[in-house]
Amino acid sequence: MINLISDTVTLPSEGMRAAMLDAPLGDDVFGQDPSINALEQYIAEKCKMEAALFCPSGTMTNQIAIKMHTQPLDEMICNELSHVYQSETGGYAFHSGVAPRLIKRSDGKLTPELIESVLHPDYHWTPTPRLVVVENTCNIGGGTIYTQHEIADIKSCCDKHSLTLHMDGARLFNALVETGESLADQTQHLASVSLCLSKGLGAPVGSVLVGEQKDIDKARKYRKVFGGGMRQAGILAAAAHYALLHQVDRLAEDNQRAKTLGKALSTLPLFESVKPVATNIVIANLIPTVSSDVFISKLQEHGIIAAAFGPHTVRFVTHMHIDDNSLEQAITIIQKLSAELS
Ligand SMILES: *Cc1c(COP(=O)(O)O)cnc(C)c1O
Repeated sequence: MINLISDTVTLPSEGMRAAMLDAPLGDDVFGQDPSINALEQYIAEKCKMEAALFCPSGTMTNQIAIKMHTQPLDEMICNELSHVYQSETGGYAFHSGVAPRLIKRSDGKLTPELIESVLHPDYHWTPTPRLVVVENTCNIGGGTIYTQHEIADIKSCCDKHSLTLHMDGARLFNALVETGESLADQTQHLASVSLCLSKGLGAPVGSVLVGEQKDIDKARKYRKVFGGGMRQAGILAAAAHYALLHQVDRLAEDNQRAKTLGKALSTLPLFESVKPVATNIVIANLIPTVSSDVFISKLQEHGIIAAAFGPHTVRFVTHMHIDDNSLEQAITIIQKLSAELS
């Protein structure tokens, strides 16, 4: 199978498995796991932030961030396409009692103007604007990138209005290999950032939340109450650490292949439109006569797995198990299906 459903399907490489086997371990709830401590310290330093916390998932790191930056009856400003709004089971309401204030923009991004357009006075009958969440890259927006300058402008806007800025950086490394920026170029503007290690980076499990020491101290408590306090989890942190040392630069290949795929799809009559490809995500809209369900089951018959992202919208994600050969194969099959279905 050529599995383009997500970059979360990536498997631990040989070097990563060796690093896991060799990892020194201890009980992380007591702060005694050397591999976890080393990973948290490494990432905090790379971000030039004070502290980091290893968690089982990016949903947990985002949810802890929302919790540590807000009080019930506060408001969280985000794009309507964002993961924190769409794909975390409404956790902002469940865990933190905050209201979402949604911004519409099809590439998934926010701007200072858009943030200011939804701000309102803090009456006793309104939730209090408190937190802004940006997603870099924007998944449903088509893998779009915020540059450090865009983030700096959003940060100035947040400062002006006493808002806190959190970044869901699930795929931040896919953006950085594209722009040539460093982690710190982006994180210097943030109160906190969540980074996923189990997507394109290829670790089996884990995300980190990075921020100020006082916030991460709170976050550690929230991680425990969310049920995320793990014991010899250094075996996972060692995999993540290996990924950060050895598997970041190759993300540029994933981005490149996604661009090749997007270009190929945009020439086919089967697609009404293809969102501009910025990183490793390709979002394509089928012509109205073809549903995503039909297209996806046809793909499956030919050994390709993709995700439905709407009645006529599909998503393909490139990752380390998609080489030039399998990409070419996928394009050939989609070309054939286009001739058949359109
Ligand atoms: C995958 C993802 C997350 C975190 O997902 P988990 O599966 O909980 O690790 C957060 N934000 C975005 C944009 C994602 O794509």
